[in-house]
Amino acid sequence: MAQFNRVRGTQDFLDMRLFNHTVQTISKHVIRYGFQEISTPILEQTQLFKRILGQQTDVVHKEMYTFDSGDGSHDTCLRPEATASVARAFVEAGIATVPWRVFSSGPMFRRERPQKGRYRQFHQFNIEAIGVPSVMDDVQLIAMLDHLFDQVFNIDGCALQINFLGAKEDRAAHKVALMEFLKVNVEQLCKRCVERATSNTLRVFDCKNPKCQTLLKDAPVVTDYLNQVSQAEWQRVQDGLHDMGVSFAHNPRLVRGLDYYAKTVFEFVSGDLGAQDSFCAGGRYDGLIADLGSKQDYPSLGAAIGIERLMIMLEEQGADAGQHQLPLHLILPMSAEQETLALLLADTLRAAGLVTDVVYGKDSMKRMMRYADRVGAAYAVIVGSNEQASGTVTLKNMRTGDNIEVKQVELASYLLSL
Ligand code: ATP
Ligand code: MG
Repeated sequence: MAQFNRVRGTQDFLDMRLFNHTVQTISKHVIRYGFQEISTPILEQTQLFKRILGQQTDVVHKEMYTFDSGDGSHDTCLRPEATASVARAFVEAGIATVPWRVFSSGPMFRRERPQKGRYRQFHQFNIEAIGVPSVMDDVQLIAMLDHLFDQVFNIDGCALQINFLGAKEDRAAHKVALMEFLKVNVEQLCKRCVERATSNTLRVFDCKNPKCQTLLKDAPVVTDYLNQVSQAEWQRVQDGLHDMGVSFAHNPRLVRGLDYYAKTVFEFVSGDLGAQDSFCAGGRYDGLIADLGSKQDYPSLGAAIGIERLMIMLEEQGADAGQHQLPLHLILPMSAEQETLALLLADTLRAAGLVTDVVYGKDSMKRMMRYADRVGAAYAVIVGSNEQASGTVTLKNMRTGDNIEVKQVELASYLLSL
């Protein structure tokens, strides 16, 4: 018989507890900052990402899954990220009340070389604040994420890198200097960077080629080209983060993938992740909303958390999916006569919110106990003919082995009181 395997770069989650716990913990945290959940489609127009991310980004250049919806045009794609979709939805719905603070989570698709922490279908938790012109919002968003990783998840050894890309004029001035630098050193650049040098200059900083990276250590950096207003804003961001107790390092070569990024950009990185060291990234994208056809621009901010990478870190630091699980109660009818009673009892426990299962078809008490042990039951509820006659159950604490008798009508409240 043919054996089928999952598609390269995808994963089966055969236990969703840690995944759900991770997503729910982030949701609960960001809701307190006024973010509301939305959901946008996985299918989008290919053109949306070409427009928003830019042709020279790795994602658009080589990682998109595109296909046609009947006419061979590759006009449809599986979304590779969420910011473009959220911005599209904002403009399409004509939302006028800002700030619009929203979050969403779900699968993203990129045709990359699969390795630890890098998949072709992966999950992001995405946060966007649209219509937030002040850089104090940059501070608030970064502090929110820092508290999440540091205090809520208690992650050790993660670090925050930030950079400030300034205003359009600053980036234009920097670009002139950078192009000059690349022209002089063109011999030492990889093929892609030679292309990038003229088509999308800032992207050279994204290059993972070690030779390019060494060369770029001496390249002009954008924070040396900030005008006075930008310099003051950059200072406010740094002071604000200090005041909020957020530690960070300035990485002057951090530019991020999106063409629209302006002012603050950041990444949270961890040594636990090897080469794929960034598990959360984001920044400010002023001008993007206007470019999608909105009459007015809404300066905005966003961040994406890579769920799989966050889970790798949580697992390496000893997160136990089981600890977030409710205890299991097993009802053990001793013979066929008690099976209906067992089902009815199970329903009353479930109605009270207790996790309950009934075991049938085990012919001896010993087997039932072995089974209860194996599935990690907290309590075994034994119902034999004596219990049936007296309206009681024998409740066995599986950890201590102690038995007590409890009235059937009091069983749910008794278990809840433990
Ligand atoms: P990288 O530099 O690792 O390729 P990126 O800059 O492409 O990351 P973003 O587009 O900023 O990543 O996405 C935000 C987050 O999504 C990343 O920090 C990472 O945690 C996660 N992520 C990105 N690509 C993948 C992938 N292929 N598999 C798993 N997680 C990913
Ligand atoms: Mg990438």
